[in-house]
Amino acid sequence: MIVFNLACAHEHRFEGWFASGDEFDSQCARSLVQCPVCASAEIRRLPSAPRLNLARAGGDERTPAASAGAPATAEVMQQKLLQMARMLVQQTDDVGERFAEEARKIHYREAPPRGIRGVASPVEVAELNDEGIEVFAFPIPDAAKNPLQ
Ligand SMILES: [Zn+2]
Repeated sequence: MIVFNLACAHEHRFEGWFASGDEFDSQCARSLVQCPVCASAEIRRLPSAPRLNLARAGGDERTPAASAGAPATAEVMQQKLLQMARMLVQQTDDVGERFAEEARKIHYREAPPRGIRGVASPVEVAELNDEGIEVFAFPIPDAAKNPLQ
């Protein structure tokens, strides 16, 4: 089977599957190929198939210019992580070693609800999770701990 990009007299575009190019010509001559939108039988083949465009895009990816963009992407990722970390630092109270204790107090409404950050051992984190307290680990780079003034 081959796929053709087709267009009718009204510029409706659609794909048609045929056993061969000859099969398409034959069906077209007998008005068996019709536009799915307007049922026009005046169908013509468009010169390029989408797969040709895809093949060309794949070639571009292997050019040196495109691969030079990779380190920039990692840098952007790092910037985004740093921004997130800064936001976390600004929006959370640092409770340090008392993290698990404070998280419980907030969960059981013994302390005002707020975001906190601090250190917890894996065992403490597991216990908090068991109690239904949401805890997530986020590595905070040193650069984010000193907000720019
Ligand atoms: Zn049409």
